Amino acid sequence: MLELQDITGGYGSVPIVQNISFNVEAGEIFSIVGPNGSGKSTLLKFIFGALEPDQGKIFIDHKPLSTYAPKALAKKVAVLPQHAETTFSFTVRQVVELGRYPYQKGLFSTQLEEDTKIVDQSMEETGVLSFADQPLDTLSGGERQRVFLARALAQEPDMLLLDEPTNHLDISFQISLLDTLKKWARTKKLTVVAVLHDLNMAAMYSDRTLLLKEGRQEALGKPAYVMEKNSLESVYKTELYRKEHPSVPSPLITLVPHTEKDVAENYIDGLLVTEETSHTCISSSIYWKTLSSAVIGAGFGWHRHFVNRHVDKNYNEDNPESEYMMFLQSLQIDSQDTTGMMTAASLADGAKVRVQDEDGDVFVYATAGTANAVDVSKAYEKHSQPVTIGTINIWIFIDGTLTEAAYTQVMMTATEAKAKALLDKDILDPDTGTPATGTSTDSMCVAATQQGDTYHYGGTISVLGKKIGKAVYEAVAETLDRYKERRRSYSQA
Ligand code: ADP
Ligand code: MG
Repeated sequence: MLELQDITGGYGSVPIVQNISFNVEAGEIFSIVGPNGSGKSTLLKFIFGALEPDQGKIFIDHKPLSTYAPKALAKKVAVLPQHAETTFSFTVRQVVELGRYPYQKGLFSTQLEEDTKIVDQSMEETGVLSFADQPLDTLSGGERQRVFLARALAQEPDMLLLDEPTNHLDISFQISLLDTLKKWARTKKLTVVAVLHDLNMAAMYSDRTLLLKEGRQEALGKPAYVMEKNSLESVYKTELYRKEHPSVPSPLITLVPHTEKDVAENYIDGLLVTEETSHTCISSSIYWKTLSSAVIGAGFGWHRHFVNRHVDKNYNEDNPESEYMMFLQSLQIDSQDTTGMMTAASLADGAKVRVQDEDGDVFVYATAGTANAVDVSKAYEKHSQPVTIGTINIWIFIDGTLTEAAYTQVMMTATEAKAKALLDKDILDPDTGTPATGTSTDSMCVAATQQGDTYHYGGTISVLGKKIGKAVYEAVAETLDRYKERRRSYSQA
């Protein structure tokens, strides 16, 4: 549909855009991203013929751009410029009718039935038909942007060029505009070339994206490839962080604020442990980045209260999460700040182990009850009863910065250490009589300060993993000893 060959040019003798080449297929959504002043709008001006490049060629449907007469070009290409002109005295319908000009013959041509039909359809598709007879200046910015989109659509173009179309639109208008473009690309084979300010919108909606740095191509391809941390940081000259979108396969780019962090303190020393029969609460003055399987705050989060709550072994609530939040409220602990677990095990049997050396500092707190100990290798065949609460809860505090990979590896290392402690303490699955590897409702929380030394690995023989393995093993073994001791004294009594 569109082909750019080695385009160089600008407004004077100094080229703004240099050596840009790409093809856009029919029905493709192609985005152009880059910082302010990187030449995005200038590049778009070359494509709709508002500016002549000094060098290079542009083809639309295999024909050089320069061979198109203005009306013929307007039937192929519609433009939504960055600053839409304000034709305020017109009604919405009149503005959209302007989109039909390339199809009008003669100076005083009248509106044909066909034109009216297309104008109505365009307004319908963009959701502005109900304002058709209102003056443009009575509409909001978002509504006006939709009117200009309707006008572009009324041109019945094969290709739509947009310069920051979502600027000044609130989030729901941005999404619905881009959803509409995506729908047209799929159903009408409309080709879309859009300058987009928002990297995340570009990532979610474009098939391919061009990243410009000072008028040159920095990267070109699928958003997942272009939105790479290092190249984005070199282009935008700021620290960025890439994550994956929670529900669609698309990268998410976030900024990192430039605030000074106070790393002088040892935050493990600063942990405040409060122990009651109803709960143990470990609190910190800072938020720790957590990965957990807890009742409250599961998954990744940032928390500063870590609550291990004791409940009766027959605890059975329809909605444990909201019941737990009420419990936290009664303690005046903010549930948004909390990772919260439950256990029927006695909190008095909890064990705390700290492993600290010149390479780092790890603190583990664990509680264990093994009434529902399970041999995981037999669970599929042997276990059918509903789960009850009787749990090994493990809390791991790490002074340092962990990558997501390290969080996952710490989880693995800690799980192995727990299983080994169960084996060494001869804990059996009561149903199968074979060595248990855990219980049916175990929870784990890995919390790191995300300050100081960075750990890329948490595996069993890594610098961090060795400490995790030792601390988790010793804490679980110790709490199991206390649990067994308590059971023995019960049965003797
Ligand atoms: P972007 O759209 O990426 O923010 P532009 O393409 O608008 O960037 O601008 C790129 C460079 O070209 C900037 O340095 C800008 O000052 C310059 N420029 C833009 N428009 C004009 C113009 N009409 N005349 C001269 N220089 C311009
Ligand atoms: Mg621009």
